[in-house]
Amino acid sequence: MTPERGVLISGNWKMNLNHFEALKVVQELAALLSSGAIPSGREVSIHPPFTSLRTVQTAVESDHVPVALGAQNCHFEERGAYTGEVSAEMLAKLDVRYVICGHSERRQYFDESDEIVSKKIDAILRHGMCPIVCVGETLDERNAGGAEAKVRGQVRAALEGRPTDVIASLVLAYEPIWAIGTGRTATPRDAQEMCGAIRSEIGHFAPAAVAAIRVQYGGSVTPETADDLLVGEDVDGFLVGGASLDAQRFMAIVRAGA
Ligand code: PEP
Repeated sequence: MTPERGVLISGNWKMNLNHFEALKVVQELAALLSSGAIPSGREVSIHPPFTSLRTVQTAVESDHVPVALGAQNCHFEERGAYTGEVSAEMLAKLDVRYVICGHSERRQYFDESDEIVSKKIDAILRHGMCPIVCVGETLDERNAGGAEAKVRGQVRAALEGRPTDVIASLVLAYEPIWAIGTGRTATPRDAQEMCGAIRSEIGHFAPAAVAAIRVQYGGSVTPETADDLLVGEDVDGFLVGGASLDAQRFMAIVRAGA
């Protein structure tokens, strides 16, 4: 973490919590936030399923909960015959600020290629929101010594060719696939090394964006591991799955190292 860039802690609820349960978690977060504020320079986003976005938006706005609303995905087209999909414009109308794209679960289960991820980034930016672009390697790729090459390639595919000021405003999430939902967190050293590699890759095509872009780590982050992970100078926060479903545990991560 480098104070000038700020820290972003994002809770990815995945396909969990119906809208009643989502409301309960937001109310718990609101109570926790009124007693112990978010450390300065930190921002928090929560990413409920689509069916809970409106409920969460209303609760966050009416109770002035200091969290940004996030989504987990969107389609890249503006509108049309895409049954079951949700457009970036629809999310923007709900005051969504951050949209996760390229999560490994979507790359793996829904065949999202680098090309599709790039089109989603375009759509999210067109509607004034900020993409959280996920990159990461499989265990086989890591064991074969190919982790950095895989991640650098994904970063290039997502960002190369975009204006520097746009790149500077984005968020990347280094999420090693072997760490997601497995309870096997990357070591602070591995997390720092790969977040640093991501920043150095950006230096090849957008040097002026390097100091500003935020790079999160994601993969089995818990209150127990968060303090040490956040020490890495290139780790600017977390994308948290499982531990974000529990308001107390999520708040402990939000306050990591403070
Ligand atoms: C995620 O969903 O992006 C994630 C990192 O999940 P978990 O924290 O459960 O590993």
